[in-house]
Amino acid sequence: MADAYPWQDSLWQQLAGRAQHAHAYLLHGPAGIGKRALAERLMASLLCQRPTAQGACGECKSCLLLKAGSHPDNYILEPEEADKAIKVDQVRDLVSFVVQTAQLGGRKVVLIEPVESMNINAANALLKSLEEPSGDTVLLLVSHQPSRLLPTIKSRCVQQACPLPGEAMSLDWLARALPDCSQEERVELLTLAAGSPLAAVNLHAQGVREQRAQVVDGVKKLLKQQQSPTQLAEGWNAIPLLLLFDWFCDWSSLILRYQLTQDEEGLGLMDMRKVIQYLAQKTAQDKVLNIQDWILAQRQKVLSKANLNRVLLLEALLVQWATLPTQR
Ligand SMILES: [Zn+2]
Repeated sequence: MADAYPWQDSLWQQLAGRAQHAHAYLLHGPAGIGKRALAERLMASLLCQRPTAQGACGECKSCLLLKAGSHPDNYILEPEEADKAIKVDQVRDLVSFVVQTAQLGGRKVVLIEPVESMNINAANALLKSLEEPSGDTVLLLVSHQPSRLLPTIKSRCVQQACPLPGEAMSLDWLARALPDCSQEERVELLTLAAGSPLAAVNLHAQGVREQRAQVVDGVKKLLKQQQSPTQLAEGWNAIPLLLLFDWFCDWSSLILRYQLTQDEEGLGLMDMRKVIQYLAQKTAQDKVLNIQDWILAQRQKVLSKANLNRVLLLEALLVQWATLPTQR
């Protein structure tokens, strides 16, 4: 049913092999490593009438209903629109599902993803279901940012960290997922995805290498005063804001690193090495620290889905970036 990833083998055995299941699990770890798939596989296995060590049988009544999307004892809670909040009304519907009796006579299983997209009211409404377990219900909570969860939510779950796979295993898997890319391209994609193989595949699908080339070219023109912050901010409207902030954050760290170590091996991806080196030589360290603080603060706002004026924010970033080098 759900995809099984090779780096999840031991996680799967720990979770699925339990003699007794907890009332709630919190599966947490970086985005793009297959936590949702793991949760779906566990959900199917917990609902299945004849599960094996590998998971659901795929053939029993429960499995067939789940495949058809009409299992009465299964509930998936996620934002109604991508990247929006899970609303308190949605959680109230879930709470009334949890108190019902299972219709197939087995377990009920709830999957919530991402848990951090619940606002405080929604999270408090969920607490009731976590505090007063009803019958044989298992809640699977998936979180990419567990630091944003209420401590009261976390403490009521069995927490299971889902680590990043090692680079060799990720590249091995990517070789099969992206057979048309060169190994060099796959290494680059994995780096851009901060080591998350599924995120690397998504980045590839959205054309991240072309986007990156466009941004790097823009940064070079900005420093040569061939393009203005406004022109660039408007030209980058198709590029995810978070990705842009990740890159600039990364570049500011690389500049600082090079200022401290002069280590030419630590300059990041090839496309920006010369620029990083140049900026490291021409910029006072406290200026780099300041812009990095600012970028991190803005990145946090982007992550929390604050209502931001994208073009103004990027312009502010680029105005500061353009004035990093003190000598012209
Ligand atoms: Zn089954």
